[in-house]
Amino acid sequence: MREQIMGMITPTMSIVFFAVFLIMWWRGKMGNYVLGFASAYLLFAIGFGTTHLFDTGSPYVFHITQFFYSLSTATAIWALTKRAGQPPYLGVLLVIYGLSAATLAVAVLTSPDISSRLIIVNVGYGAMYLVCLMSLLGGPRHEAIDKLIIAAHSVLAAQFMIRPVLTLLIEQSIPASVYRQSVYYSVLNLSLALIALMSAMVLVGACLYDQIKAVREQADLDGLTKLRTRRAFEQGVVTLLERANQECAPVSLVVADIDHFKAVNDVWGHQAGDKAIAQFGEIVRGTIRETDIAGRIGGEEFCILAWNCDEQAAVSLAERIRRKFAQAQIEGLPGDQRLTASFGVAGRGEGEGYGKLFARTDGALYAAKENGRNCIVRDGEGKKRGVVTSIAELADKRHEANA
Ligand code: GH3
Ligand code: MG
Ligand code: MG
Repeated sequence: MREQIMGMITPTMSIVFFAVFLIMWWRGKMGNYVLGFASAYLLFAIGFGTTHLFDTGSPYVFHITQFFYSLSTATAIWALTKRAGQPPYLGVLLVIYGLSAATLAVAVLTSPDISSRLIIVNVGYGAMYLVCLMSLLGGPRHEAIDKLIIAAHSVLAAQFMIRPVLTLLIEQSIPASVYRQSVYYSVLNLSLALIALMSAMVLVGACLYDQIKAVREQADLDGLTKLRTRRAFEQGVVTLLERANQECAPVSLVVADIDHFKAVNDVWGHQAGDKAIAQFGEIVRGTIRETDIAGRIGGEEFCILAWNCDEQAAVSLAERIRRKFAQAQIEGLPGDQRLTASFGVAGRGEGEGYGKLFARTDGALYAAKENGRNCIVRDGEGKKRGVVTSIAELADKRHEANA
């Protein structure tokens, strides 16, 4: 009776975890790896059910259980590595299962004692988790939650290797007929329940962490340009300026504004205007480096904080963006119609805060507009000759025609 109740703990918990992961995947629209975790727990419960429900005297029970446990382990490993963006090495896992199953078949045929069978299957699962750990450790970056996952699965791999050896050292040998009355079986139940609980808590935590992170990142991005929102940009600036102070790294600010944009909306409509904004965002994303941050700080105003970049280099960056945008064909605009943007650039003075740096850069942008647009002006620089676009005139004509 006691064994019956204990034996129900792990499969019941596994079914609950299966339901939790399934709901998170289905209703929470989480990644497919969450469905992988759900499937792994379901297969685990089925595997556990087989050992528990069937007669352990039958030679097939060990094979069926091993099949479901191995499938559960491989599914969990697939999900864990997919989450980390690492290879699952399913071929290696299949080889481990094949070797383990063949060795188990020999053990079942040659001896009624189940000690050897337990060692074989458990070492097999342990080896699978070692493959998983190697794959996870090969990942590029490990956040705290990734380290926790690696730690939890190291414990899991270790217990598969150590548990059968330790228990059998104490118990010597177990005939198959009295398997469920053995100390091994009680220890197995308890450790499996604890491990299933521990790994499930870590995995649920990881899924929630991923979800919160994704929602946050989504909220920090402007939908039209996929650049940071003004708030997220300003938050990023604070962090980057602090880092620049510590590392004595030069940073520069670029502020850009699309020229005659009111006229673009007036002449070709708001939707075409939106396409132009999106196009500008795409050009900015494709031009800046990963260490720079860029945001859409107003309707058609953009800001870039260039990391480890002096004013001269920032002017070159702005020039690349200016040229690409001036050449870009924009959906919804006539084929030969091009838009332009104006830029202000300023290098950050020593210890200078964002407010002052922005004011200087915005002043330079204003000078760029004054200078005729489609040009770049540095803070403190004299007026430059710019190219006057004809869109404003076009809008005026249209207004006149409508009047
Ligand atoms: P300038 O060359 O001096 O910058 O002239 P401008 O017409 O571009 O002037 P301004 O920068 O003040 O114009 C901003 C316009 O951008 C006003 C608004 O109608 C338009 N706008 C702001 N947000 C959006 C948006 O999300 N989509 C579209 N299509 N238009 C926007
Ligand atoms: Mg404008
Ligand atoms: Mg503007």
